[in-house]
Amino acid sequence: MRQVAIYGKGGIGKSTTTQNLTAGLAELGKKIMVVGCDPKADSTRLLLGGLAQKTVLDTLREEGDDVDLSTILKNGYGNIKCVESGGPEPGVGCAGRGIITSINMLEQLGAYTDDLDYVFYDVLGDVVCGGFAMPIREGKAQEIYIVASGEMMAMYAANNISKGIKKFANAGGVRLGGIICNSRKVENEKALLENFAKKLGTQLIYFVPRSLDVQKAEINKQTVIQYSPEVEQADEYRALAKAIDGNDMFVVPNPMSQEELESILLEHGLIE
Ligand code: ADP
Ligand code: MG
Repeated sequence: MRQVAIYGKGGIGKSTTTQNLTAGLAELGKKIMVVGCDPKADSTRLLLGGLAQKTVLDTLREEGDDVDLSTILKNGYGNIKCVESGGPEPGVGCAGRGIITSINMLEQLGAYTDDLDYVFYDVLGDVVCGGFAMPIREGKAQEIYIVASGEMMAMYAANNISKGIKKFANAGGVRLGGIICNSRKVENEKALLENFAKKLGTQLIYFVPRSLDVQKAEINKQTVIQYSPEVEQADEYRALAKAIDGNDMFVVPNPMSQEELESILLEHGLIE
């Protein structure tokens, strides 16, 4: 079982990419569980055809400790098992703690069955700290992908996340598997991200184009692969799924200094 965590700046496309890519893996016959680790609880919406999932934390609050696995785990597209950890009400308590509670609960209830090929954790945040580091602590996810784009703040976040990964990689076994570029149509974006990934000691594992088909499918509460399997963007996600399935480059990243990061942007003509 490969346990994979997806990190990246808020709004960069983690949930969209995770669901479309796992739909691609499901087409390849893989058995998958997706665990949403964002209080927004929208990590599985496209796989379930809407916000159909009751979060682990809401379930615990309403039903107490005696939880049935079927209440918090629902089968979605391609038989992908879907879980949302949920979070506290905004401004109340630590959202990261919800993830710890949820993963513990899933383990207790026997959700990590031997037949699973993949578990994906869709984790919010620009930095890896507190409860949000839970999925990459020892014994959980061994493999991380960072979703980024050619926009400076996305790369800045990716670099910060790499600092967190480095810390945990030294203590445990977690490794960075690559950067996924979710394009924002920035000038020279692919070359920029390739260079950025190389400087981090990793690879640009895939360049996902920006496409209106993503939003069309999203409005219909589906992944592109389900909603419009014949469009080019569906093939992009299939190719991303294959790239991850065949990946064999796992590294401890070398985070950059702010100056180094800015020099990459300068090289690509993004800062005057
Ligand atoms: P995150 O989970 O990182 O916060 P989301 O996956 O929710 O980000 O993505 C934010 C928005 O970006 C989504 O509403 C989606 O429509 C849009 N989006 C993501 N990827 C693409 C893409 N490749 N092409 C077009 N729109 C995209
Ligand atoms: Mg999200």
